[in-house]
Amino acid sequence: MAAYTCTSCGAPIEVKNRFSKVVVCDYCGTHHKVTVDGLDPTGKHPKLADFPSLFQVGSRGTILGKPFTAQGRLRYKYDGGHFDEWFIEYDGEPAWFAEDEGTFTLFTELIEAIDIPLDMSSLRAGQNIMIGDKKVMIKEKGSAVIEGGEGELFHYTEPGTKVTYIDGVWNGKKTSIEFDEDEIELFIGRPLLKRDIVVEG
Ligand SMILES: [Zn+2]
Repeated sequence: MAAYTCTSCGAPIEVKNRFSKVVVCDYCGTHHKVTVDGLDPTGKHPKLADFPSLFQVGSRGTILGKPFTAQGRLRYKYDGGHFDEWFIEYDGEPAWFAEDEGTFTLFTELIEAIDIPLDMSSLRAGQNIMIGDKKVMIKEKGSAVIEGGEGELFHYTEPGTKVTYIDGVWNGKKTSIEFDEDEIELFIGRPLLKRDIVVEG
């Protein structure tokens, strides 16, 4: 764990997870990149509205019987509402937990900076695409805007950034591809039932 102070308001900030690349000040909402030299402010953004969620920053418990701690979240806004992508420590490893209007997905694998030799804008549901060596069937495609973040984050996208996502299936697993102008990421995981998730505090 590393201790810092907020570059904007001076509040204490602790970075608990060694994989965290961004930390958001609890008090004033300033986002900081976590660098070897300390905290580097990227901007001040409004705090997230308090929508109901299974987790809060710091929540602990078990998912499928293995321990997790909720480190932070990015909130995405789309036409039908919003969803949260929690960065969690899961059984000692980084993982992601997506919460979308009562549906839950645990992503334990992330493949970053993928080269996709395709025009993503032409893709439609039902198509198969090759993502690296993986043949993914597209189930849904949509776009969302990053509304903001809270706590510690594994990767960071500036609030206001538009992202396109593709939900699909590969090898019986649930996949989510997210891309903006700079980056493509592939998350691999599985859907959860609410009873798979136990929040202890
Ligand atoms: Zn602050």
